[in-house]
Amino acid sequence: MSAAPASGLKPPAKESVATGSGGAVSSVNVYATRAGIEVLRHGGNAVDAAVATAAALGVVEPYSAGIGGGGYFTYYHARTGKISTIDGRETAPARMKPDSFTDPSTGKPIPFPEAVNSGLSVGVPGTPATWRKALHDWGTMSPAKALRPATRLAQHGFVVNDEFRAQTALNEKRFRNISSTAKLFLPNGELPVVGSRFRNPDLARTYRQLAREGMNALYRGEIGRDVVRAVQHPPVTPGSDAKIRPGLMTAGDLAKYTTLRQQPTHTTYRGLDVYSMAPSSSGGTTVGEALNILENFHLSAADKVQALHHYLEAGRIAFADRNRWVGDPAFSDVPTEQLLAKKFAKDRACLISPTTTLTSPVAPADPRRPGDGCAQGTGTKERYEGPSTTHLVTSDRWGNVVSYTLTIEQTGGSAITVPGRGFLLNNELTDFDFTPLSEDVPGPNLPGPGKRPRSSMSPTIVLQDGRPLLALGSPGGATIITTVLQTLVNRVDLGMTLPEAVAAPRISQRNRADTDAEPAFLQSPERTALERLGQHFVEAPKAFTPSPEIGAAAALEFLADGRTQAVAEPKRRGGGSAMVVHPNG
Ligand code: GLU
Repeated sequence: MSAAPASGLKPPAKESVATGSGGAVSSVNVYATRAGIEVLRHGGNAVDAAVATAAALGVVEPYSAGIGGGGYFTYYHARTGKISTIDGRETAPARMKPDSFTDPSTGKPIPFPEAVNSGLSVGVPGTPATWRKALHDWGTMSPAKALRPATRLAQHGFVVNDEFRAQTALNEKRFRNISSTAKLFLPNGELPVVGSRFRNPDLARTYRQLAREGMNALYRGEIGRDVVRAVQHPPVTPGSDAKIRPGLMTAGDLAKYTTLRQQPTHTTYRGLDVYSMAPSSSGGTTVGEALNILENFHLSAADKVQALHHYLEAGRIAFADRNRWVGDPAFSDVPTEQLLAKKFAKDRACLISPTTTLTSPVAPADPRRPGDGCAQGTGTKERYEGPSTTHLVTSDRWGNVVSYTLTIEQTGGSAITVPGRGFLLNNELTDFDFTPLSEDVPGPNLPGPGKRPRSSMSPTIVLQDGRPLLALGSPGGATIITTVLQTLVNRVDLGMTLPEAVAAPRISQRNRADTDAEPAFLQSPERTALERLGQHFVEAPKAFTPSPEIGAAAALEFLADGRTQAVAEPKRRGGGSAMVVHPNG
């Protein structure tokens, strides 16, 4: 991180744990959490508050989320006791083909950074449609009202903190290549100064237009025209020699975009009901399969080493199956139910030994043919996905709960800001596999027209006896899955409180030889004990923080005494913000 000259202003104070009643919000940013709480105080419900929080994150976390991206929304409706989801994933344009990420001049996949920094990687945004759908189906407020706190925030600005500066610094080089992005995020050609006020009047205007005209201003109107122009003709800075490929998106692609109302994934874990996101996200099936595997073992704090060993091995196996089977179910037959079958998990659990470690890549098994679970073979390698994205949770005084993860994929997305509009476009289409899994198996996640790239987002809600107990999720690419899984194991099996479960050092195994680990874990006695069993750890890659981190969770617990506990990260990403409407109430 570059030395940060400081100016005088300070961001509002924040807490990582808040307990009380009347509704709760947790997110990675204090301004965003406050926007959600403001809406709850004005009589809004959890859905209104989730949209308000997300719109505010589009202002203060513009490199992770915003109307140029997509996400997945999970909702517990107190009156019916039902869990529903909205799949607001970005889709590929109609002109996208399985080999669209192949360079015709070389016949090889386009180098990954070139794909990221391009119009080609921009998927049709799903976030505005998600907000519209959620408010229409379950909210009480108009989009205009739900967007109000965020619009004010964009207009008046927020105080730049170390995190925002560091995330800008990480992107500085590529931001300079796009004139609209440099103009907005590198004011006067420099990194934003810590303690200064960062304003985004273009975004305030865009939010006002969406409030006036509805989300169709983006899907069928002026904002959409600007999006398409930016994708097809990325505004490369004059004099820059960066090679920025144009994209394939048209106005027709925007007009055709729809969110999907899908059944959530469901599994049980030690008597709890765990709901999450179905494909096109791999979150629900992979967290669910790993939990089902773990249910075959007794895990407890009394033997933390064995508990962590089993957690790592379950992750290894579940990722092997994820990579082989999960993609957009509209394009291939994704065995969602079979991946979540207890019988399949029991077969897979027989691979795990308490005294040795599996060799990755572990081969996938076919969930449609249970009984093959112990077969060993060759697996496929999982590509690294960096940390980005953002997660929020909300609840209200009526007992409704939202768990919502949204993203523009890489921190800083495609680096293309829509000129005059104040928001970045995603690079979500780089979540597709660029090449077939093997010569015989094309795999479920190759690009295709109108297709949704496989995600790892896992907005999760856990019920106990039919009532909410936990809501949680995290950013972090494929490590989202392990962060949600580890937090659940910490809370349910290892006897930690939710704040302890979130704060605990993270390790992430995704069917690779090495397990990514946070520094605090690398210094722990468990590390040595697990290495004796054959586990191998490496420090998690550094992203934009001085210290390597895995994920940045936001969570809620509904306590036995009727109060709600909102939990944010105490340290990761500079610390999150948890608030309740009536503290201690
Ligand atoms: N594109 C990722 C996904 O959908 C999220 C981005 C990230 O968290 O790195 O899983």
